[in-house]
Formats: sequence, structure tokens, C-alpha cells
Amino acid sequence: MRPGFRWDSADAYLFDIDGTLLNSRDAVHYFAFRNAIQAELGLEASIDNVPVHGNTDPGILRAALQQQGLADAEITSRLPKIIERMCAEVMRNKAGLRPEICPSIRELIFQLRQAGKLLGVASGNLAAVGRLKLEAAGLVSEFSFWAFSHPRELRSEIFQDGLRQACEIAGRNAKVCIVGDTPSDIQAARQTGAPVIALATGVFNFEQLLACGPDACFACAADLLAV
Ligand SMILES: [Mg+2]
Repeated sequence: MRPGFRWDSADAYLFDIDGTLLNSRDAVHYFAFRNAIQAELGLEASIDNVPVHGNTDPGILRAALQQQGLADAEITSRLPKIIERMCAEVMRNKAGLRPEICPSIRELIFQLRQAGKLLGVASGNLAAVGRLKLEAAGLVSEFSFWAFSHPRELRSEIFQDGLRQACEIAGRNAKVCIVGDTPSDIQAARQTGAPVIALATGVFNFEQLLACGPDACFACAADLLAV
């Protein structure tokens, strides 16, 4: 923990979803990328060679389509339909979602809510996909507001949207803290000026996250609660 940083002193907390609140033990979201591109463009595009962790859904689609040789302007014009198909597919397959809630996340949420904190979600997921994952995890009612991707494509834009919503609810001078699991979360939080807590419950380990200079870094939420 950075000297002087009090993790519990914020008025509002913005949580990333994948790797922070939960990890998906299914491939519903994964296949939706490929199938939506296939159905809309007739292309066999894969997201296997695209950095997905810390990326946003539109960012992943754009990278996969760039690998297929599509120009950015065409990708931009095609994205809305592809995204519509993706959301529809995840909705159809929602019974197959198998989210595994990260260690002590329920306890952390409980403690923050007991302390009267405002809780929101800021995730690179498409809105429909993110909400379905939270619903499947039984977490959706814990949060008061949501910032998702599309039309926002950059993580920093999503965090900015979350911060704006937090300040609309909790007041213009509300202190907001971001909780994430990737170097991208730390970097995007820095761009917004908000403090960031990193939890090594996704694919990045404690040392990798610590090296990015978050305000606080923990192996999981249990360690955070033990402070
Ligand atoms: Mg994440």
C-alpha cells in the first residue's frame, strides 16, 4: 500500500468485472466474438491472438478484424451490428454462464455497503454481457450504477464515465476509487486521476501488478480486508 493511502476512505468504488469480481468458467462470451463476426461478415476471425485481458469488447473486435485486413473506418461502421449479434448470442446462452466469484469479493462488497459506500461497475464488457455475468453471479443488485463499453472503446473512457456517474450520485467532490486486476486498469485509472487498487485474481500476478504502481496491491480481496 502506498504510504498515506487509505483504501477505505473513498465515497464510491468502481469495480472491474473479469478477473476482479469474477472469472468466467465457460466460453459463452469467448464464442460470441467469433460467431458474431462470422455471421455478420462471413469471416473466420479468432480472438486467440488478440490481447483480451484488460482490453474492451469493442477493442477486441477491432483487433481481431484488423488481423483480417479490415480498415479502421470499415470496422467502425460494422461494429454496431456485430455487437448487436454478440449481445443477442450471450443472451440466448445465458444459462451456460458459469461465473466464479473471486475470493472474498462478497465480504468486501458487504463491508463497503455496510460502511455506506456507493458501488458501481466499470468494465470493458458490452453492457448486456456484463449485466448477464453479474446476474449469473448473483451480484447485480449490489451495484448502483454501471459503465460499460460501446460506444466507448477505451478503458479510460469507461472509467471516466463511471467516475462521472459516481459524482452525479454521490456529489461533485466525491472521492472515487477504482478496483481492477490488470496493468490496463492501473494505467487507465492513472489517466483519469483516480486512485486504483489492484487485485491479483485475474491472469496477472501480484508482482506484475505491483510493478505498474497501483495505490495498493493485494493477492485477493481477503488480504485487503485483513489490512
Ligand atoms: Mg479485468
